[in-house]
Amino acid sequence: MAWDFSTEPEFQRELDWMRDFVRAEVWPIETVFDELGEAGFERAIAPLQEQVKARGLWAAHLPPELGGQGFGQVRLGLMHEILGSSPYAPVVFGNAAPDSGNAELIALAGTPDQKAEWLEPLLAGDLRSAFSMTEPGTAGSDPTLLETRAVEDGDAWVIDGRKWFSSNGSIADFLIVMAVTDPDAERHRRASMFIVPAGTPGVQVLRDVATMEHPAERFGRIGGHAEIAYDGVRIPKANLLGARGGGFLYAQQRLGPGRIHHCMRWLGVSRRAFDMLCERAQSRYAHGSLLADKQTVQNWIADSAAQMHAARLMTLHAAWRIDTEGASAARQEIALIKFFGAGVLHDVVDRALQAHGALGYSTDLPLESMYRFARAARLYDGPDEVHRQSVARRILRGYEAPADGVPSEHVPTRRAAARERFAGLLEAVTAND
Ligand SMILES: Cc1cc2nc3c(=O)[nH]c(=O)nc-3n(C[C@H](O)[C@H](O)[C@H](O)COP(=O)(O)OP(=O)(O)OC[C@H]3O[C@@H](n4cnc5c(N)ncnc54)[C@H](O)[C@@H]3O)c2cc1C
Repeated sequence: MAWDFSTEPEFQRELDWMRDFVRAEVWPIETVFDELGEAGFERAIAPLQEQVKARGLWAAHLPPELGGQGFGQVRLGLMHEILGSSPYAPVVFGNAAPDSGNAELIALAGTPDQKAEWLEPLLAGDLRSAFSMTEPGTAGSDPTLLETRAVEDGDAWVIDGRKWFSSNGSIADFLIVMAVTDPDAERHRRASMFIVPAGTPGVQVLRDVATMEHPAERFGRIGGHAEIAYDGVRIPKANLLGARGGGFLYAQQRLGPGRIHHCMRWLGVSRRAFDMLCERAQSRYAHGSLLADKQTVQNWIADSAAQMHAARLMTLHAAWRIDTEGASAARQEIALIKFFGAGVLHDVVDRALQAHGALGYSTDLPLESMYRFARAARLYDGPDEVHRQSVARRILRGYEAPADGVPSEHVPTRRAAARERFAGLLEAVTAND
């Protein structure tokens, strides 16, 4: 039997350290993030990043030959569950999205020169990056429709188009831009990826789009989602990332493990909300008893625990498949957990918020911001409907319509066949009567 749900004691010790460290050192930053400003925030996290490096936990997402820790997806998943409890913990550990996915992408498709120029400083935490694929004018859930164009001009590529929701785009030193290079090719081979330094003439970061998560527009903060115009942006040919026409494939490869990390981070958020739910249940008294004594609240607690447990096992199983068979073998598991995990996050936060009444709705608790954060999980890295569609299509490939149109489980048809098969026996039984 190879099934084993245990964590090695040495790694468990690291997880325990991370849990204590994140709670003691990172959670307090959340409450003063706005007051600190971006420069103050950088100063606050710099010593924490040093501690993480000294502990050997920095940039755990990449293999050792690329300067990472080579943890593999299962251990990374367990780590992200802890880091996900705070929006700022991943950056303290050098594996925040979108930098982590972009680093994986350059590691996968970059030339040695690109790795030296962009990947190494990205891993060291000296550069920030953004992934610029989604456009306001085309459906982001179907990147084969992209309209941003890159055309060859002498020794350069020239990019024209408009992107939005490029997370961290307003603070990025470089952007990985997906643009159509071969409009007449097969639809999955039309686009390519480019490394675009943020200061290149023609790159205009227009705004950080205000969202449910950050309703007041604020520019140049970590976690913003930039709208960017690319107007005649000339970049050297050497900035093509990977093979021409390979953009769609690379985007898929980038997003696979990234989705697992999101799902585990969501479990970190869910766990925090769940703890608040349980704590409140033990203290709030109404209508003759504590909330903890009311069956509806008990159901919320039990249902949340069951959902989180299921999501955790599904995520770790998907991570294990990536580790053992590769990201493309795990596509079904990744799609399943992406939409299931987003739903669990929403449900747990919603129940915790409800149990706190007006306090839950207020900004005196982090639940309202978790709730707004949770809503986006159903959209980014592919909306729920697209993952459900992909799961259902794969499953349906294993089925076909019955030749005669009668369902294979149709009882009268099965009974007639069984009567024929057991005719002798049935006759004997009847004769004995
Ligand atoms: C917080 C956040 C961060 C993001 N960060 C980035 C980033 O860093 N870089 C980047 O490039 N993009 C980013 N995005 C964009 C994100 O990837 C897109 O929003 C997503 O791919 C959906 O694209 P869309 O918004 O254009 O919606 P559309 O593609 O227009 O889809 C709208 C809706 O149509 C429905 N739909 C679509 N397809 C189907 C289908 N097959 N069956 C049934 N219904 C369907 C779904 O309900 C879907 O929600 C981010 C988005 C958010 C919210």
